[in-house]
Amino acid sequence: MRRRDVIRTGLLAGAAGAAGLLPGSALTGSAPAAAAQRSGRAGAARAVRNVIFYAYDGMTWEDVALAQWYARRRLGRPLTLQRLLYGGGGNMETYSLTSVVTDSAAASSAWSTGRKIVNGMMNLYPDGTPLTTILDLARAQGRASGLVTTTRITHATPAAWIARVKNREEEDDIAEQYLAFRPDVLLGGGARHFLANVRGDGRDMFAEYARAGYAVLRTADELERTNASRVLGVFGNDHLPFEIDRTQQGAGGPPLARMADRALEVLSGAERGFVLQVEAGRIDHANHKNDVAGTLHDMLAADATLDVLMRYVDTHPDTLLLMASDHATAGGAVYGVGTFYRGASRALQRIDDHDASFDHIIARLRAADGRAAVIDIVRQHTGITLAPNQAEIVERALYDRLRAANPVAYADQPHNSLGHVLYGGGGGRHIDRLNVNYVSGQHTAGLVAVAAYGSGAATLRGRLVDNTELFGWMLDALGEHHENPILSERDALDMLESVGASRESADAPVYALHG
Ligand code: ZN
Ligand code: MG
Ligand code: ZN
Repeated sequence: MRRRDVIRTGLLAGAAGAAGLLPGSALTGSAPAAAAQRSGRAGAARAVRNVIFYAYDGMTWEDVALAQWYARRRLGRPLTLQRLLYGGGGNMETYSLTSVVTDSAAASSAWSTGRKIVNGMMNLYPDGTPLTTILDLARAQGRASGLVTTTRITHATPAAWIARVKNREEEDDIAEQYLAFRPDVLLGGGARHFLANVRGDGRDMFAEYARAGYAVLRTADELERTNASRVLGVFGNDHLPFEIDRTQQGAGGPPLARMADRALEVLSGAERGFVLQVEAGRIDHANHKNDVAGTLHDMLAADATLDVLMRYVDTHPDTLLLMASDHATAGGAVYGVGTFYRGASRALQRIDDHDASFDHIIARLRAADGRAAVIDIVRQHTGITLAPNQAEIVERALYDRLRAANPVAYADQPHNSLGHVLYGGGGGRHIDRLNVNYVSGQHTAGLVAVAAYGSGAATLRGRLVDNTELFGWMLDALGEHHENPILSERDALDMLESVGASRESADAPVYALHG
């Protein structure tokens, strides 16, 4: 295909998800998505009081299968997620304006504005044109608002509900934009963007929030004790710990379910209802690292949180709950082993031998010395004994920056090398290790889960939707109308070129977008 055809195809595909609000659009290629969007918006007849949006960052359908198996087999019950998906779940496309693979900034902007944008940007087109978010509209109606996450509170997924920045890494700026917006609840990690001695400009944002009337909470205990109606809770310098480290290695911070519960208690006092975003943000991170036990335990923590949210909807029927994954990450899959795959579940059972995240294991490896120490530490935390050549692969990734696998696909190092030797890709007898393998440490293009529950829930019923449609569902729920400007992929690429950003990014440095 010639380059121009690629752009044209991309233009049509990119506009398809965004064109549903344009009756009689000349973009005939957009007909199916536009029709789908109209049918998706037909359900809600009147405004609801509250909207809760629950984001599972980086969750794949394979993650769902893994966690479902674990819940049935080891916990003796299905996931709460099963109840949600069986009741009103479907599949969602996630591509961004200029890439088949989205990042979290473009993905979260898509559902908060109804428009696809360039990866890495937030609620802005490359020429600076701003987009209105669903929280802007909710605030104008007098509704309360909140953001809750296990990542830095200024990280892309929550930030795209409020902030407009050209680069998602401008998190100091995002902390300032939050203060100007004044959401009622902000709970997560990321103190480094609030502390005067860590921020680039020396501003003490905690003091500024306190002056603006926020109760500033820094510990799980303070979160329990507060009765303030406007809260900023920041429970760690960076992201909050992986759940497996929180529960099995004594890492601090409140669990996501508790943060969500407290947020709902604060917001329930709002006179005109609220819009709350909750993010299970570290499923993505564990997947980037190819850390299967880390992913599972964050999935289980996410499920406990979903239980809190669905119970809230059950007891507050004038509430709409939407759930979606912003994109898939890493392409991990549980594969069959043994005669007629009889060994598959048995092999996977060894996941209970894992008691720490890859982050925790690698921090210990960095502090240790020698191959025997590598083998010993990995065995302590996984129950798996590496062969000497496998330990060497890990050592090289740690100290010599040599990578065992394709450095483009497996850019998250040394974690991806540890995953490579621990699981299927590193060889060894399958029955001795987990039968999980990853195709990369990057986001992937696959379809993801989406669901609606409660008052005014869209009639999903297994439908395939586009991520921009969720904006329309929320508009209907709020009883609002709004259309943001549409940009074509071709115009976006021209704008990027005119501001000096490379049109082709194949030569860009290899890195993984943790979001
Ligand atoms: Zn993401
Ligand atoms: Mg995120
Ligand atoms: Zn990511």
